[in-house]
Amino acid sequence: MSFGCTTCSGECCRLYLVHVSGRDAVTIARGQGLAFEQFIDIVAEAEPTGAGFTLDGSGDTFALSLRRRPDGACSFLVGLTDGSQRCGIYPQRPFTCAVFPLRLYRGSVDIRPDVICEPNGRRITAVDLPHARALLVRASFEWTVYAWVVAAWNEARETVGGRLDERAYFDYVGAAYDAIDATLADRPPVETANAIEHWMDGVPAADVTADRSELERALGAALAPVAPNRVRALPTP
Ligand code: SF4
Ligand code: SF4
Repeated sequence: MSFGCTTCSGECCRLYLVHVSGRDAVTIARGQGLAFEQFIDIVAEAEPTGAGFTLDGSGDTFALSLRRRPDGACSFLVGLTDGSQRCGIYPQRPFTCAVFPLRLYRGSVDIRPDVICEPNGRRITAVDLPHARALLVRASFEWTVYAWVVAAWNEARETVGGRLDERAYFDYVGAAYDAIDATLADRPPVETANAIEHWMDGVPAADVTADRSELERALGAALAPVAPNRVRALPTP
């Protein structure tokens, strides 16, 4: 459920499994005062993706998703007494929800063709295009960062035998984003904003390239010690 919906009351929140990045999970946990275990499910990936984390050496990879109720609806979907439905965590809803069903297609904000929206439920003319573009770019940035978070975990996890449990992964994700956020807080906000704003540009200008390279280096340095330290601190499986 996102901005610009006109007549629909949230079919997407009842039908789709919503995969989330570590940033989404941390935003909800902090904003709602919840532990990851209270709203995140770990789901096996059919095919490994760049955001798929491992828990053992089997090659199986997993994703984070919002927990669903027995009827399949998102556990954060709230039914009001008049029968309408609303997102119960709207200010912290995942980027996937915030941008759905939009995409950037050949540089333009567009509605995905493969979605369940009613024909009149979601109109591009009702979308604030600059805001939507900024959200789509931010979502791309956050999924890239989460792929780095996952890659660092997978590399460290390979150093241990046996199977690590989801609690260990959740602890790691929380610590990884604490380190990322401490680094972001220390950086010039304008340079960070510049790097993120142009994250999806094909041929960025020189100053954007410099800002992006510097941001990647800074976040890589912040993440590097987190997974090895967490994995070393775990009891031997
Ligand atoms: S119009 Fe589409 S995005 Fe909006 S609430 Fe309905 S299904 Fe969700
Ligand atoms: S988080 Fe909110 S917008 Fe996203 S699926 Fe759940 S209820 Fe819908």
